[in-house]
Amino acid sequence: MTKCKCCHIQFRWGEIFRKNNFYRPIKCRNCGCEHKIDFPSRMIVTSLSVIPFLIFGLVLSPFDNLLFTVIISLAIFESGMILTPFLVNYKPVRK
Ligand SMILES: [Zn+2]
Repeated sequence: MTKCKCCHIQFRWGEIFRKNNFYRPIKCRNCGCEHKIDFPSRMIVTSLSVIPFLIFGLVLSPFDNLLFTVIISLAIFESGMILTPFLVNYKPVRK
């Protein structure tokens, strides 16, 4: 799991998870240092969540029911997102 680059405290899974959803900057709860997701990590987030979501939603859906397809697609999206806090890297924002 990513650590704060300023004070080396470890970020919590939930902190990263919430920020990853919209690539928002994460603020260290200990020292207030702001971090942004780096570019390779954005690619990781996209390939684990958005791409499977799109493939399932647009190509592979075995269901005729649109609502069911949307629900399963969102479940796939979220299960990819659950993994991302372990894989992404953050870099401190220079002010
Ligand atoms: Zn810190």
